[in-house]
Amino acid sequence: MSSDDLMVRVQVDTETCIGSGQCEMIEEATFLVDDDSGIAAVVGTGLLPTDRAEKVVDMCPGRAISIVAETPETAETVNEEAEETE
Ligand code: SF4
Repeated sequence: MSSDDLMVRVQVDTETCIGSGQCEMIEEATFLVDDDSGIAAVVGTGLLPTDRAEKVVDMCPGRAISIVAETPETAETVNEEAEETE
């Protein structure tokens, strides 16, 4: 299995989100910027493949997106890969 196949969960910090909308443009099924508040929220499961989650984290100008958890079935593999790169 490649790292592209691993799923992780993302979340938005509503205190630091500046409503720029990059997340919604990149991952429209996972993020939605509220029309009234102008703040992004995670919709649906919040699960994304690791590479796409890391990309949207990097693209967020408010540094408001974080990866909070791997799914149980992939956590062990993620941890193993992290140890290999240290
Ligand atoms: S990219 Fe970041 S700052 Fe912009 S709307 Fe999404 S969470 Fe908020």
